Formats: sequence, structure tokens, C-alpha cells
Amino acid sequence: MDLNQLVVKQKYLDDVVIKNYNSNHSDKLGFYLDHKDFITHRLLGLVVELAEVCNEQDLHKYWKNNKKVGGNTLEELADVLHFLLSITHTLGYSGADLETAYLEKFQENLRRQENGY
Ligand SMILES: [Mg+2]
Repeated sequence: MDLNQLVVKQKYLDDVVIKNYNSNHSDKLGFYLDHKDFITHRLLGLVVELAEVCNEQDLHKYWKNNKKVGGNTLEELADVLHFLLSITHTLGYSGADLETAYLEKFQENLRRQENGY
């Protein structure tokens, strides 16, 4: 599965979420919200899910001698990916755009390592 397919799938899920949100809240708000209205929530969600990855790995408890690594790290990484894909389409980018940007940055970072950056 490529990034384009993942972004399309995420947009489908986000459409369902917004539809359900609007059907539950539109009578109170008096208007309908769309994807752009949730960009701040999605950025915050990304930060929270990154923190959950850290929590699963017990990274912030540097004083502990016997760290307990949780078994949900991969699930939390999937949550991170959900929000990253959601932000991608909310800002108007496709999976192909993200893939191109990633590959360009990958080459730049590799070049930096090779040149003592
Ligand atoms: Mg999570």
C-alpha cells in the first residue's frame, strides 16, 4: 500500500468522523464544520500520540532502573501515522506529495551525514 492509498483511506475515515460530529453537534452550533476546522485538533492529536509512544517506551522516566516497555508501541505509532496522514490531506497535500517531500529530505539528510553536517 502506498502513501496515496493511505491518505485516501484516512480522508474517508475523517469524513465519517466529521459527519458523525456534525450530526451530533450541528443543532448546538448552527453550522457544519469541515476538515479545515479540525487542523489544530489534528496537530494536537499528533503531539499526544507521539507522547504515547514515549510513554510506551518509558522514555521520560530517566531515573528508573527497571523500565517497563509497553506492548502497545506499534499501535501508538499507527496512531501517529493516522494523524500525520490526516494533517496531510487537511493541508491539501496528497500521499504522493508527502512521499516526494520525504524522499527529497531523505537524500538531503543522507548528504548531510556524508559531509559531516
Ligand atoms: Mg494512542
